[in-house]
Amino acid sequence: MKTVSKVKEARRLLKKPQVQKFDGSLHTQKFWCYCCGLEVEKHVTDGNMMVLFAGLIEHMATPEHRKNTHTFWWQNKAEQKIKDKFLFSKEEVDR
Ligand SMILES: [Zn+2]
Repeated sequence: MKTVSKVKEARRLLKKPQVQKFDGSLHTQKFWCYCCGLEVEKHVTDGNMMVLFAGLIEHMATPEHRKNTHTFWWQNKAEQKIKDKFLFSKEEVDR
């Protein structure tokens, strides 16, 4: 499952945020959140530098995403173990 590996990568970067020079092609990259059914900006930028996957991580820490993930998992009867990979705690993000 591709999404899981993407989230894994994001989690890895959360421990060691990857900042790089602004790249217009990366900036337009979006992440499709299956749980919420919406598109999320993958990276966060101030126009000079960008933090990779910060948009994705921020989205996954929102209460809306948490709620939607629970609903999504319940509806699809997906594996509970995988669900945790889709959720970031607020503490994790604030670090
Ligand atoms: Zn979401």
